[in-house]
Amino acid sequence: MSEGSEIGWLNRPGHKSWTLNVGIGCTPVSAGCDFCYAPKSAARQAHYEGRGGIVAKDALGRQVWTGEVKLFEERLQRPLKVKRPCMIFVNALMDLFSAAVPEEFIAKVWQMMAATPQHTYVILTKQPKRMRDIVRRMVERFGILRNVWLGVSIENQHTAEIRVRFLLETPAAVRAVSCEPLLAPIRLTRLHLGGGSYLNALSGIMTGDDGEIYAAAPGCVDWVIVGGESGRREDVRPMHPTWARSLRDQAVTHQRAFFFKQWGSWGPAPWVVRVCDPAEGWKGTDAELAAAKAAAEAIGATHSLPVWADQYDMKPTEAEHKPWGAERHELPDDTHAPLRFYRGKSAGHQLDGREWLQWPTADGLIEEAPRELATAGGVR
Ligand code: SF4
Repeated sequence: MSEGSEIGWLNRPGHKSWTLNVGIGCTPVSAGCDFCYAPKSAARQAHYEGRGGIVAKDALGRQVWTGEVKLFEERLQRPLKVKRPCMIFVNALMDLFSAAVPEEFIAKVWQMMAATPQHTYVILTKQPKRMRDIVRRMVERFGILRNVWLGVSIENQHTAEIRVRFLLETPAAVRAVSCEPLLAPIRLTRLHLGGGSYLNALSGIMTGDDGEIYAAAPGCVDWVIVGGESGRREDVRPMHPTWARSLRDQAVTHQRAFFFKQWGSWGPAPWVVRVCDPAEGWKGTDAELAAAKAAAEAIGATHSLPVWADQYDMKPTEAEHKPWGAERHELPDDTHAPLRFYRGKSAGHQLDGREWLQWPTADGLIEEAPRELATAGGVR
């Protein structure tokens, strides 16, 4: 348990944050898994008794999952001993609904969650069909648990169209989509169901090609989480600001909770950082000019990215001029966003100058972190 998890949405006001790994081990599913951090974390635990064989090194020397899973049933007792309300992420190092996890084990997790209504549990999966089928059976035994929030991880329109549909068919008090790493634009308001059918996942309304409403989905998405990819290598994939803004606007328009978790390693930066008025020229010494240029380079954009980059698997294009250069007066066109590569997570967690730290409730309301908490670093 901790007061300030790196997983920002775990830091819900009034709750302790807690990542409860009831198992370890996974299998990559889609592009969102390409730079999965979890095998590295798992490798650090591989020497513990009974945890060998979960990860192995690939030809490039990277830690990768082997597909084996180890379950820690004894950990299911831990939440029972904690009275204070906790926001608990069930599994950062395993997909609870992967085929390798037996349903009897998932039933024990449900039993634990039913016995601890003081806590809120968040479970994210990339196996939404299995989640839907199993959760329907759990609901027959336990009812819909108000303290269990279920979600899918998606990274582009394709994965959204496959996974969100199953999510809405899953009985749950709260449904979430975690768009992290966001690798392409996603229109949650227009998911193609096949033929001439479309689903607005934020309202739960289905329409035909002509826009006519013909049915209501069993539910809708209550919580939209957005984040970019992190890492120290420059092959980490950037999130175009327009993609993040679009998901924020979709959520806000439909009065759904929105959480902007982080930019990741690529983030927006000023395209032009002037060190003087070009019309007047530099008036200080050469040493002062060198320092001013260095300061401008330390904050200015180094690359640009068009909003359609995902369609061509494009990497950010390196800027030809320095941010202080007089030649650098405009971007190629208004679809290009100026970006900077920040190692780790230093690109921050503000979208257009503000933090978006919202949580849904099982009653359909939106909770927001108090601003002091947000700015004090209590919520990240
Ligand atoms: S599903 Fe999650 S834990 Fe498993 S490989 Fe993908 S990103 Fe990693």
